[in-house]
Amino acid sequence: MVLPFFLERRMGAYLLKQKLLGRKRYPLVLMLEPLFRCNLSCPGCGKIDYPDPILNRRMSVAECLEAAAECGAPMVAIPGGEPLIHREIGEIVKGLIAQKRFVSLCTNALLLEKRLHLFEPSPYLFFSVHLDGLKEHHDNAVSQDGVFDRALRGILAAKAKGFTVNVNATVFDGYKAEDLARFLDFARDLGVGVFISPGYAYERASGQEHFLNRRKTKELFRKVFALGKGKRWTLGQSQLFLDFMAGNQQFHCTPWGMPARNIFGWQKPCYLFAEGYAKTYKELIETTDWDSYGTGRYEKCADCMAHCGYEATAADAAISNPFKSIALAFRGIRTEGPMAPEIALDKQRPATFVHSLHVERELARLKQEEAAEAGQRLSAAE
Ligand code: SF4
Ligand code: SF4
Repeated sequence: MVLPFFLERRMGAYLLKQKLLGRKRYPLVLMLEPLFRCNLSCPGCGKIDYPDPILNRRMSVAECLEAAAECGAPMVAIPGGEPLIHREIGEIVKGLIAQKRFVSLCTNALLLEKRLHLFEPSPYLFFSVHLDGLKEHHDNAVSQDGVFDRALRGILAAKAKGFTVNVNATVFDGYKAEDLARFLDFARDLGVGVFISPGYAYERASGQEHFLNRRKTKELFRKVFALGKGKRWTLGQSQLFLDFMAGNQQFHCTPWGMPARNIFGWQKPCYLFAEGYAKTYKELIETTDWDSYGTGRYEKCADCMAHCGYEATAADAAISNPFKSIALAFRGIRTEGPMAPEIALDKQRPATFVHSLHVERELARLKQEEAAEAGQRLSAAE
């Protein structure tokens, strides 16, 4: 089982409601990053390149629950960093489930066996284990031997206790279609769903040479899907998103569909890079200049086909045009013939780089907080 049936039904009802209410921008999945600290250091990661004072920061349980309640998305994905490092992760998940939100806890699974006692199996909770491929491939992708075996032990332990487990795989340049197909066979036989996405070229990632451009992404997925015909792979994403990855849909991203909240605030414009922060979700929606982002508009978006930009687009398209999805379900994903026209890049504005500015501001704020706390302690002691 990839996702519980009632999750799909509830997400479908939610999407329909947004359409009937005429909402243009609505959240589908909140990307909640309660910390950036991780116990791995993958070359394709754009989330961990911060100084220690920032890596040591955590969102509190109250901040996490307030963010989910304010945003209102029916599902919350908790990536990071590594969320299982957060001491209060059990409370965060419990609180989100009490709000009747579906929770996808994304983890590299190194701590999964040890921390399973913090959670209870629930139709609202599923673990999403970072697994990029089979043993050799995955250990290479995360730059550490033995991680695949430990992740597998974590997956089996969680399944044995009755948890729903999926895996999320990020695809980089040089991944052979045959290897990816073998990994998808393995996941099917293991009984876990797979959420797959091309890696976004994070400006802070150390392995810049590994990222795919859009053309290569589409060619790779066409080959993979051709190999998968009749294999009943357990892919978790919508058919329209997969069709987009195979180059058959010309979608524009809808980053407000998967808004990101982390220790800095609500991240503008999307989960993948930061050019500002809002204090509230409302402020994020109302003050982000959405039209200045997306492929063809902004250099940093040129090669993006990531799920957090386009899965919400595909979901919206499925509700707006159900016949398109039904036809696709019957026909299957096309793996030959002309692709949908690519978005022209000649009018995109050049990238600006503001990461250091945000880091400096956050460090200054932390210093101020520390000074204020020290002052309070002093007055209490007098
Ligand atoms: S496990 Fe995830 S968060 Fe940690 S370094 Fe790797 S990609 Fe980044
Ligand atoms: S294309 Fe959209 S989702 Fe992708 S990086 Fe740009 S704004 Fe973010």
